[in-house]
Amino acid sequence: MKEFSFSTASLRVRGTIPGSDFRTSSMVTETTRTFGFFTRAVMRGAQAAAVRIAPERSRGRARPRRWRVLIIDEVRIPACSDISLRDRISTIIGLSRDVVKDVSVLRRSVDARKGKRPSFVYRVAVTLSDPALEERARGRGVRRVEGLPESWAIPDVSPGRPDIPVGIVGTGPAGLFAALVLLERGVPVVLFEMGKPVEERVRDVADFWRRGILREESNVQFGEGGAGTFSDGKLTTRIKAREREFVLSLFEKFAGREGLRVEAKPHVGTNRLRTFLLNARREIEERGGKFLFSSTVTDLTVEGGRVKSVRTSRGETVDVSALVVAPGNGARKTFSLLASRGIPLQPKPFAVGVRVEHPQDLIDRIQYGSFAGCGCLPPADYTVSVRTGAGDLYSFCMCPGGFVLLCPTGEGEVVVNGMSPSGRRTGFANSGFVIQVHPPPGSPWDYGIRFQESLERKAYSIAGETFALPASRVTDFVSGRPPRGELPPGRWAGPERVAVDLSPIFPPEMAEGLREGLSRVGKVLKGFVTEDATVYAVESRTSSPVRIVRGKDYASPAAENLYPAGEGAGYAGGITSSAVDGVRVAVAILRKFGG
Ligand SMILES: Cc1cc2nc3c(=O)[nH]c(=O)nc-3n(C[C@H](O)[C@H](O)[C@H](O)COP(=O)(O)OP(=O)(O)OC[C@H]3O[C@@H](n4cnc5c(N)ncnc54)[C@H](O)[C@@H]3O)c2cc1C
Repeated sequence: MKEFSFSTASLRVRGTIPGSDFRTSSMVTETTRTFGFFTRAVMRGAQAAAVRIAPERSRGRARPRRWRVLIIDEVRIPACSDISLRDRISTIIGLSRDVVKDVSVLRRSVDARKGKRPSFVYRVAVTLSDPALEERARGRGVRRVEGLPESWAIPDVSPGRPDIPVGIVGTGPAGLFAALVLLERGVPVVLFEMGKPVEERVRDVADFWRRGILREESNVQFGEGGAGTFSDGKLTTRIKAREREFVLSLFEKFAGREGLRVEAKPHVGTNRLRTFLLNARREIEERGGKFLFSSTVTDLTVEGGRVKSVRTSRGETVDVSALVVAPGNGARKTFSLLASRGIPLQPKPFAVGVRVEHPQDLIDRIQYGSFAGCGCLPPADYTVSVRTGAGDLYSFCMCPGGFVLLCPTGEGEVVVNGMSPSGRRTGFANSGFVIQVHPPPGSPWDYGIRFQESLERKAYSIAGETFALPASRVTDFVSGRPPRGELPPGRWAGPERVAVDLSPIFPPEMAEGLREGLSRVGKVLKGFVTEDATVYAVESRTSSPVRIVRGKDYASPAAENLYPAGEGAGYAGGITSSAVDGVRVAVAILRKFGG
C-alpha cells in the first residue's frame, strides 16, 4: 500500500491506496469562512473535487482565475497490487508521473464481477504541473474541463422569520434534514419525536435484545434518528438527486467520516450514526430548533384546509405554521391518525420475505475467488435478483460483517432486519431476500399494513409466542422440511433464536416463491445454499406499504401546509433518499413562505 500526500493553497489531499481506508481532507479558504455552515460544507465538496491552479499572467496583468482539470472516468487498480494511483494515471494519459501535480478522487468503487480479478475503480480529477501539457494528455475516458459543476446549495429564498415554528413529526433522516435546511434560512422548527434521545434509546434497545421487554415508543424503529439508527448505515441510494452530495457532506461532517461523497457505496455503520445524531442535535439546538422527545403527535387541528396545531401525548398543544410529517414506515398509529383527520392515504406496493446469514468468509470466497482474504478488499457484498413463480426475489439491505436483529414495534409481532458497525467485522454477512406485494385494485389504504401484521403475528406465534428470532438452516428451508438439529453459528441481536419451519408464516404461493428463489440464488452465487447458512423471518418492514398523498408542491391536497416526507410517507426508500426528500420538502416550504 502506498501513501501519498500533496497540497495546494486551497486543497490538501492525503491517503493510502489502494484499499478501503482512502481519506481526503480539505481546508477552508478565507473567502468561504463568511458563509453559513452548509455553504462551507458544500464548498469544501467542490474543493475536494477540483483543484485550483495559479492564475496565468499575460503582459503583467492577471487574467481571471480558471479552474482547469483533466477528468479520467475510469482508473483501474487491481486488488492486491502495489500499483499507485499516480502511476496508473500517468500510464493512462501517456505522460510522466512527475507532471501529475494534484489528484482528487471523485468516485471510488470496487469491481468484483465474476471471472475478473477484483479491482478498485476511480474517477479522478487531475491537474498537471504545466497546463501546456494538457493538450498532450490522451487516453480512454480522459476529458478536459474548465472546473467542475457547482454543488447543490439551498436556494437563496428569504422566507422571513415566522413567529410560529414549522412542526416536524419524526426525527428520522427526513425530519432531521428538513429541520437543518429550514434553520439555515432562519425558519424556527420544533421536532416531535415519539421515542427518546439516542443515548436513552440505545439502553432501551439493549434491554429489549437481552430480556425481550419491548417499549412501544422507544425501540429499534422509534426514537431519535428513526429507523436508521440501528442500521447498517449504508448511505447508498439509487436516486439521482443533486441534493445527494449535500446530504452526504452533512453525514461526513456530523458523523466524522470523510470521503463518503466519493464512495460508490458509502457506509457509516450504526456506531457512527449515533455520533451523527448527537452532532446534528447540537447543531439544530444551537440554531434555535427545539426537540420534544417522548412526545407522540396524537392529534391535529385542521381548519380551512390548514393545520393549525398539533396535540402531543404529553397533553401539550403546539401551534405550527406548517407541518412536516415524516413518521417512517412502521408508525401505524400515525397513519391511522392522519386518515381519521381526512388526510388522504393510498396503499402502495411493498416487499416482504426473509433474511439470510452466511459466514462472511464464504461470501468473500464467492465474490472475490482466490483474492478472498486480501487485506485491501472490504468484506464482500452482493446484489442479486431472480425470477420466481411469486414474482422477482431480490436481495435487500445486504449487511457485510453485520448482525441480524429483532426489530418489532408492537407486542405480539416479530420483525427482523440487519445492521452493522462501521468496521464490519462480525465475521457474518446477512441480507434480506424479498418479493414485492402489489395491493389489488381498490384495496383500502391500510391493505399492506394488515398484510405485514398478519405475517409478523404468525412469526411471533411460530417463535413460541415470544420475542425470539424464528430461524432455519437454508438447506432445510429450500427443501421445505422442518429444521434438523442445531442452527448454524451466526451473529444476531435478540433474546434467542428458535429453530422452526418458517414456511407457514407466509401465504403458500409466497413461501414457494421464497424457497424456489433462494435455491436459484444458489445457482448465481455458488455455495450460497449451504448447511452453514441460516434463514430468519420475517423481513416485513422493507418499505412503506402506504403513501400519504401529496401534490407537486409537496403538500397534502387536504391541508396546504401539511408536507408528507420520507420513507413512511411513501417518497423514499432508505436513509439517504429519505434525507433528500426532507431537504426537498424544506425547500418547498421555504419557497411557499418566501412567496
Ligand atoms: C434495522 C434497520 C436497518 C436499516 N438499514 C438501512 C441501511 O443500512 N441503509 C438505508 O439506507 N436504510 C436502512 N434502513 C431503512 C432506513 O432506516 C429508513 O429508510 C429511514 O430511516 C427512513 O427515514 P424517515 O425519516 O422517513 O423515517 P424514520 O427513520 O423511520 O423516522 C421516523 C420517526 O418518526 C417518529 N414518529 C412516527 N410517528 C410519530 C408521531 N406520531 N409523533 C412523533 N414521532 C413520530 C418515529 O418514532 C421515528 O423515530 C434500515 C431500517 C431498519 C429498521
